[in-house]
Amino acid sequence: MKAFIPVAAPTLKGNELKYVVECLSSNWISSQGKFVTDFEESFANFIGIKHAVSVANGTVALSLALKTLGIGPGDEVIVPDFTFAATINAVFHVGATPVIVDIQRDSWCIDPLCVEKVISKKTKAIIPVHIFGQVVEMSSIMDLAKQHHLYIVEDCAEALGATWEGNSVGAFSDIACFSFFSNKIITTGEGGMCVTKSDQLNDRLRVLRDHGMSKERKYWHDEVGFNYRMTNLQAAIGLAQMEQLDFFLKEREGIDEFYDHGFKNVPEFRSQLKLSRRRSTLWLKTYLLDSRYSVSLMIHKAKDKNIDIRAFFYPLSDMSIFKAYAPYFTAITHEISASGFCVPTSLSFSRDDYQRVIQVLKEVMESMRMDYFWNHDLSLPQGLPPNV
Ligand SMILES: *Cc1c(COP(=O)(O)O)cnc(C)c1O
Repeated sequence: MKAFIPVAAPTLKGNELKYVVECLSSNWISSQGKFVTDFEESFANFIGIKHAVSVANGTVALSLALKTLGIGPGDEVIVPDFTFAATINAVFHVGATPVIVDIQRDSWCIDPLCVEKVISKKTKAIIPVHIFGQVVEMSSIMDLAKQHHLYIVEDCAEALGATWEGNSVGAFSDIACFSFFSNKIITTGEGGMCVTKSDQLNDRLRVLRDHGMSKERKYWHDEVGFNYRMTNLQAAIGLAQMEQLDFFLKEREGIDEFYDHGFKNVPEFRSQLKLSRRRSTLWLKTYLLDSRYSVSLMIHKAKDKNIDIRAFFYPLSDMSIFKAYAPYFTAITHEISASGFCVPTSLSFSRDDYQRVIQVLKEVMESMRMDYFWNHDLSLPQGLPPNV
């Protein structure tokens, strides 16, 4: 049996090892040290924004952002139904109330029309999520935010490198959040970043990240804060990853094209759309499967061939802990969630690996086609019209 190909894997072939050894040999392994500031600076430069504040992971980046904006009990925050649960968990972590809305059919991202429908006197913020590297229809979200005096906290965890009208995602909100978990575009093992153009918000993010300790007076606390700091060890890896980011993004574009070319004669697979005004980034390569076929059966069959295919996120509103927070049924989220799948995407895989994934999935698809026609022929009782 050929080697297992996981759905994602990090690539650590730059200066990661060298910089981590530097941390170890200099004894700076906690959250002070030059890599933390260098990583933050390099990240802010890439986004084209004034401030970047590193944190322990992407989830606390989101809750720190909400807390920094003063969002808490009694406030409502609008989130899409189609996202990783960290987005909505962060709202609960600050004691606010999430309001779950549906997504657009073309972008799979939060639908501004659905957002507008649920804005109330209690609404304080919107969290648009650039899902699977696809960019949210930002101008409508920004218009709504302006009109109703709402904050935008952008969840860019899956979309580092994507742009809206030529500007990097993360540059459009009060505070934007990134994740550096091992399957993201760049990784620090665990890690996250908040970015903002505001000096004031930058100060407050840093104070709350560090126990709420006064900037002027050490060990004096003006408010209840957190310890959400990133370590110098993580930042060392992050800086090395930043040095390779342009290369990563270019390679990911190549993977995107390679897959689409490989599957071009598979009419049952529909690739994520390229939409106007934005340039998406490739996180995990995704497809929608023709609704006659079952994604879970496909995953099962691919697993037999040692290929890791992943289903999409379930609708948050299907889970009992979140159900009560969705005022309307989210038809599009349900449809996309049930029919989408991710194929292995990483710079660590070779072209031969990708060729194997394509070959296996083509064979799996062919066998599902045969099953479909076979079953449908057999299931028709002789002499009866097909609809009986
Ligand atoms: C990964 C991810 C997060 C949170 O990241 P962690 O670093 O794992 O806490 C948040 N939102 C989305 C959409 C993500 O994909």
